[in-house]
Amino acid sequence: MTVTTTTHQAHEHAPAQFRPVPDEILVGGRWITGDGGTSEVLDPATGAVLQTVSHATVDDVDAAVAAGHRAAAAPEWRDLLPHQRARYLVRIADAIEENAPRLAALQTANTGKTLAETSALVASAAGTFRYFAAALETSDADLTAPRGEYLTMSLWEPIGVVGAITPWNSPIASDAQKIAPALAAGNAVVLKPAAWTPLVSLALARIIQESGLPDGLLSVLPGRGSVVGDAIVRHPGVGKVTFTGGTGTGRALAHEAAEKLMPVSLELGGKSPTIVLDDADLDVAVNGVLYGIFSSSGQSCIAGSRLFVADRLYEEFVDRLVRRARALRVGPGTDPRTQVGPLVHPRHRGDVARYVDLARSEGGRILCGGAVPDDPELAAGAYYLPTVIDGLPNSARVCQEEIFGPVLIALPFTDEEDLIAQANDTVFGLAAGVWTADYRRAWRLARRLQAGTVWVNTYKQFSISTPFGGVKESGLGVEKGRAGIAAYSRQKSVYLGLGTEPNPWAD
Ligand code: NAP
Repeated sequence: MTVTTTTHQAHEHAPAQFRPVPDEILVGGRWITGDGGTSEVLDPATGAVLQTVSHATVDDVDAAVAAGHRAAAAPEWRDLLPHQRARYLVRIADAIEENAPRLAALQTANTGKTLAETSALVASAAGTFRYFAAALETSDADLTAPRGEYLTMSLWEPIGVVGAITPWNSPIASDAQKIAPALAAGNAVVLKPAAWTPLVSLALARIIQESGLPDGLLSVLPGRGSVVGDAIVRHPGVGKVTFTGGTGTGRALAHEAAEKLMPVSLELGGKSPTIVLDDADLDVAVNGVLYGIFSSSGQSCIAGSRLFVADRLYEEFVDRLVRRARALRVGPGTDPRTQVGPLVHPRHRGDVARYVDLARSEGGRILCGGAVPDDPELAAGAYYLPTVIDGLPNSARVCQEEIFGPVLIALPFTDEEDLIAQANDTVFGLAAGVWTADYRRAWRLARRLQAGTVWVNTYKQFSISTPFGGVKESGLGVEKGRAGIAAYSRQKSVYLGLGTEPNPWAD
């Protein structure tokens, strides 16, 4: 590994709000240039190279894990009382807020999301650190009921070093969702951001380090999943892996974890139904469905990507929706008028376009979109028009596989039984939405839908205090909520004998 002190010059294509960060990676408290090769990180709105980022090596993973163990075991971290450790998290939250415009601009430049979206993600990252600081400070130790002459306690202890692997769609929020509870529990964290979007994770690492967190408690190692991610998962010194990403990757990672008998939490893909009942307020439902699928250009694990509409309403509702989808403003994330930004990378746009071609070849009707925009100003970016498709059964591949782009498949249903059968006929179980005026029907459906989260007359609302996770192939375990810290802890039971007489068995 090569230790450097140089910083990069601003790249000539970089947008005004984007400030390049040095191409160094954080390994055990030291900023170094990784020797694992480099990759060019793009601005998907223009196709321009934002920055060249160096990758970590397997040796860097070793060094980060070793430094993590030293830092987690050092008395200045290990011996902190919960309220003292909470102060570090509060400082991190403050520092994120102080740097919010810069972090949002960086994430917009690297992911293409609108500034409104990335500003909300930055605010949520700060909120996550603040929430887990409060949860830690107000946490209780359990005194369990004695069943003899002893006192029993159940303690929560750190695991040691936690590996965190995150995807490209909402980096700062998914990083915070893992780093904050893992630190709160007293661990060190080795984070691998997605190869396409490492910039904001590296900027966050600098902010966290400058906020005073002891060196070694956080390492950030960009690089390919098959190299750096795999080395983190297999490393004998990593005691837990927390992963957000695709179901295929999650399943492979769980196999590796099983070899080590290591706990994993997996936040995986989705193909979530958004359901319009015949009594829904249609103005509210149309806006909600549009937001649920087309915000973040559909690159959201919880995107409402299968639309089920009561057959009586079907034509009227889908017509309205399509007219509104055609009117959505597609453009760069830096333009405040933009509703739908570019996709994260030209390669990903290719994958999305291939799914639409597949729908066409299987007889689907493309009601709008299904192409790149013809605006010459957008020609260099990874844009794709908001697309609505119908005429396919729920068994079609585009209804069953996650497209992760601005593509909505509309399907009619006849009655509640037909709806539940279709909506639950998927390997995924991440989220669902129900639009109705009748809360009895909403409650009934919410109980029957196989999903980790059900929204009623709202969609994509998130609260750090509410647990989030998927069922079926959408995941294992939950994040967020007060129990979030326990997911990064080991439980230990301690018995304190109160008897004064010798044990008669030995006499
Ligand atoms: P991905 O391909 O599974 O990658 C996710 C992360 O895993 C990346 O950092 C990736 O590195 C790394 N990785 C790849 N192969 C690995 C391996 N063998 N060992 C260890 N790590 C490995 O997913 P993605 O395409 O980045 O993200 C989109 C997916 O994430 C979608 O399926 C989406 O639904 C899901 N997601 C789920 C949630 C949720 O909370 N449920 C939230 C957001 C996204 P590279 O970048 O080098 O490939």
